[in-house]
Amino acid sequence: MQYEEVLSKTWDTLIIGAGPGGLGAALYTSRADLSTLIIEKSFTGGLIALTHEVENYPAVELSSGMELAQRMEQQVKHFGTEFLFKGVERVERASENGHDAFDVTLSDGRKVRALTVIAATGSAPRRIPAKGEQEFYGRGVSYCATCDGAFFRGKQIVVVGGGESAFQEGLFLTQFGRQVTLVHRREGFRATELAIRRARARQNWAEKLNCTVEEIYGDELVKGVKLKNTKTGASEDFPTDGVFGFIGYDPASDYCRHLVETDKEGYIITDKKMRTSQPGIWAAGDIVQGALKQMVISAGNGATAAIDIREYLAHLKG
Ligand code: NAP
Repeated sequence: MQYEEVLSKTWDTLIIGAGPGGLGAALYTSRADLSTLIIEKSFTGGLIALTHEVENYPAVELSSGMELAQRMEQQVKHFGTEFLFKGVERVERASENGHDAFDVTLSDGRKVRALTVIAATGSAPRRIPAKGEQEFYGRGVSYCATCDGAFFRGKQIVVVGGGESAFQEGLFLTQFGRQVTLVHRREGFRATELAIRRARARQNWAEKLNCTVEEIYGDELVKGVKLKNTKTGASEDFPTDGVFGFIGYDPASDYCRHLVETDKEGYIITDKKMRTSQPGIWAAGDIVQGALKQMVISAGNGATAAIDIREYLAHLKG
C-alpha cells in the first residue's frame, strides 16, 4: 500500500511495534477482518530477531529469531495486515464521526488515524554505565551478539551481565571469540541453571565475578576495560577487543506516557485484557509492567488485546 493511502485511512487497529506482541495481535485482528496497520521503526521481530536461537516457543524446536520473525510477518500479511516502517513520535486523542479515535504522529511529522491502538514497542537494551561506552559504541561496544558476533572471530570478548541474556548470548559468542569472559557485579545469577551450565561447558568461557566495568578504552577500536571489584574496591585492566552488554532493558513507552498509566520505570500498567488506563489503547509484550519477557507470553498478550478490541469496535460501530 502506498504511503499516502496508509495516511488517508482510519484504521480499525494501529499496532505500534512489530515484535511478537504486535504480530500476535495482528494475527487476531486481521483474521477478524479488522483493518490493521503495524508501524515499526526498525525491523520485524524486535528483540527476537536479534536472538540467535529460539527453542522455547511451542512447535518450534529450534529456529533463528530472525527466521521466526519473518514467518510471523508473512503470516499476518497473508491475512491483510499492512506494515509501515517509520518511527512513532506521539499518540494523541482524536475524534472520528463522534467516536473516540487516535492520531499517531510519525517521525516525519505526518499523522495516521486509528480507532484503537496497541502499544507493543517492548524495551531497548540498557547501556553499560561506564566511561567510554558512548565513544566506543559501534567500535567494539555492542548490544547485539547476532548482529556483531562474527566481527570478533578469534578475539577477546567481554560480556557484561548475569541474566539469561548474558549467558545465552555469551554462549553464542563462544563460537567466535578466542575467549569470552562474563563480567558480573555479584556471585549470584538471574539466569537459568540450564543457560549457566551450557555456557560453562565451553572451554573458552571464563567469568570475572564481583566486578563492574568502570571504563572502556582503546584507540580506534576497543582495547580493554577497567574493572572494579565490588567487594574490595580494587581496579584492574582487562584487555579485550569487544564488550557486549546484556544488563537488562528499558521500556520504550515515551510516545504514550502522557495518555496511559505507567510505573515509575515507564512500563505500561494493564488489566487482564491488556487494556491500559486510556480506553481505546491496549498494550502487549515486554512493555507491560510485570511482563515475563517471553515470546509466547507477548504473543498471548497480543491475542488477548485483539480479542478485546474486536468487542470494543463492535460496540463502538454499533
Ligand atoms: P535481567 O534478567 O534483568 O538481568 C540483567 C543482569 O544485568 C543482572 O544480572 C543484573 O545484575 C545485571 N545488571 C543490571 N544493571 C547493571 C549495571 N548497571 N551494571 C552491571 N550489571 C547490571 O535481564 P536479561 O538477562 O536481559 O533478561 C530479561 C528478561 O528476559 C528476563 O525475564 C529473562 O528471563 C528473559 N529472557 C528470556 C530468554 C529466553 O527465554 N530464551 C532469553 C533472554 C532473556 P543483578 O542480578 O545483580 O541485578
